[in-house]
Amino acid sequence: MKFHVLTLFPEMVNNGLHTSITGRAMEKELISLNTVNIRDFAGNKHGKVDDYPYGGGAGMVMQAEPIYQAHKMLENQAGHPLRTVYLTPQGKTFNQDMAKELAKEEELVFLCGHYEGVDERVLEEIVTDHVSIGDYVLTGGELPAMVMIDTISRLVEGVLNNENSAEFESFHDSLLEYPQYSRPEIWREKAVPPVLLSGHHANVEKWRREQSVLRTARWRPDLLEKADLTKKEKEMLKGEDKNV
Ligand code: SAM
Repeated sequence: MKFHVLTLFPEMVNNGLHTSITGRAMEKELISLNTVNIRDFAGNKHGKVDDYPYGGGAGMVMQAEPIYQAHKMLENQAGHPLRTVYLTPQGKTFNQDMAKELAKEEELVFLCGHYEGVDERVLEEIVTDHVSIGDYVLTGGELPAMVMIDTISRLVEGVLNNENSAEFESFHDSLLEYPQYSRPEIWREKAVPPVLLSGHHANVEKWRREQSVLRTARWRPDLLEKADLTKKEKEMLKGEDKNV
């Protein structure tokens, strides 16, 4: 899978993603990262890519033409239009379902804004998806782009060592993951739940499912609306005094 990032701070994106699991995925050529410095398309010798907003107001706005040219270069190289995500607090909130859908693409472009944002006219020309990573305002789109690339990369075949890791995690089936334990068996007088030491696979699975349902009801009851719960599980939650 190919990720292109249009940014004023390519080193930030490169440094963040060339480490750990995404870094290894790039070494194995399962994913690739191409950062494009918008400043290289400034069209003036000072590398200026922003200007004052028409109508007044605080801050600077990223100008349309350098972004348009940088994007055009990518589409010319690809030979076809590219799905292009603009990171913006005004977009649809990113979630695991969106990551799954985007992971089906072979190539994605991420446009990172900075300062007060980007001239609307270029957004109208090149952007296919407006995406936010949450209801708060960051200084730039680089961290959101990295969040999205990291999440999507984990869904690309071969990126995680164990293919099941991504399949049964939080948000799979609209449930949070069950609690995890590792050695030692007793830590500061706290023992691992005995069922996990029983070697009885079916009982372990049953316990994990139950824990997933309970923890989702406690911490993210909003998710349960979409979860496929059995009659027994709904009864169990009623016993827990939860509304489902
Ligand atoms: N003035 C803009 C507004 O109120 O919508 C916010 C601009 S913000 C300071 C600068 C850039 O950071 C944005 O263009 C966007 O690329 C990025 N950004 C900030 N918060 C974000 C969020 N929650 N999700 C995605 N991108 C964000």
